[in-house]
Amino acid sequence: MERFENKVWLSTPTMHGDEIKYVKQAYETNWMSTVGENINEIEKQVCEKVGCKYAVALSCGTSALHLAVKLAGVKQGDNVFCTDMTFAATLNSVVYEKANPIFIDTEYDTWNMCPKALEKAFELYPDTKVIVVANLYGVPAKFDEICAIAKKHGAIIIEDAAESLGATHMGRQTGTFGTYNAISFNGNKIITGSSGGMLLTDGLEAANKARKWSTQSRENAPWYQHEEVGYNYRMSNVIAGVVRGQLPYLEEHIAQKKEIYFRYKEGFKDLPVTMNPYDEKIMEPNFWLSCMLIDKDAMCKQVRSDNDACYVAESGKSCPTQILEELAKYNAEGRPIWKPMHMQPIFRMNPFVTKSGNGRGTTNAYIAGGAEDVGADIFARGLCLPSDNKMTAEQQDKIIEIIKNCFR
Ligand SMILES: *Cc1c(COP(=O)(O)O)cnc(C)c1O
Repeated sequence: MERFENKVWLSTPTMHGDEIKYVKQAYETNWMSTVGENINEIEKQVCEKVGCKYAVALSCGTSALHLAVKLAGVKQGDNVFCTDMTFAATLNSVVYEKANPIFIDTEYDTWNMCPKALEKAFELYPDTKVIVVANLYGVPAKFDEICAIAKKHGAIIIEDAAESLGATHMGRQTGTFGTYNAISFNGNKIITGSSGGMLLTDGLEAANKARKWSTQSRENAPWYQHEEVGYNYRMSNVIAGVVRGQLPYLEEHIAQKKEIYFRYKEGFKDLPVTMNPYDEKIMEPNFWLSCMLIDKDAMCKQVRSDNDACYVAESGKSCPTQILEELAKYNAEGRPIWKPMHMQPIFRMNPFVTKSGNGRGTTNAYIAGGAEDVGADIFARGLCLPSDNKMTAEQQDKIIEIIKNCFR
């Protein structure tokens, strides 16, 4: 097989033409700041699409998460339960506020926060009042269970829906399960503004606070009057123009990503692998990234240090390192699964709770990658596949062939 002449990417922006029209409109009317029609329009449209009352357009998903953490009242030293296997932005804002992330292990059904581990965490840290839940790769977390647990313990949920815009759980859009929710328009997300994000909430007071904090916390006065700390987090009207042009294409992008997911699923049906799972009875993901997991007994030997990986090839078996290296050889981009936060050097002292209540910071000894550690297991055996919605069927068939060859 030949190398791909044009690189096949993991996930890149897909523009449609209207984006430049709205950007030009901002330019020609000179609304080149953080105020303007594009911002007003996308805030309205996102509320209608997602089914929330208020949307505050911000510079990125991370700033939305930061304001969500502040709105939730998280203070220095507070414990906050966080999704463990996710992009660090999910919980970095907890650290900005000098609070203490406690990592909740992952479950195999959706690769999101494990409700059983969350329940155990409340036994160990009963005073915890905030839970940050991410929807990995566009698959909703088990919100039916997680919301019930949160309610029972009087905790509030911050939903990180950065990867899952347009996905639903029991017919309800992600980005509405938390009291405060974040979405992202980063360049590789399902739709993009090149950057940008939003805070979503049903609380008018919260939305107003977020607006004020995001524009340097000016008080209502003729001069710059300040009573609390502020941030420069508002979205630019130029960026909002790109988002405005993209929003009508959200469903089209989801349909394309869904086709990619099922083409992989069909292509891999004779391999000892599975796709990133979801509960089709109650969930419809946005299929942002297609991922695969290699069966335990089909894994060749793979060793990862902090910064490097190697493997020993074996007939009939493979591993993520081998597949990623093969894809790269053919000019295609895959990616390892988000390395769980409890395995990150920066969080080596933070508690980590598994479904039977074991883990670091519990009374039972923590065994890294032990039988209990679901996140470490998925990280070891899983990978993200090229999922760009501009990938052709022919290109994808070739990717499938490259991966099949790894198992020969
Ligand atoms: C992309 C992403 C974010 C952050 O969004 P930005 O807009 O890049 O700041 C947060 N959480 C998750 C899970 C993400 O994938």
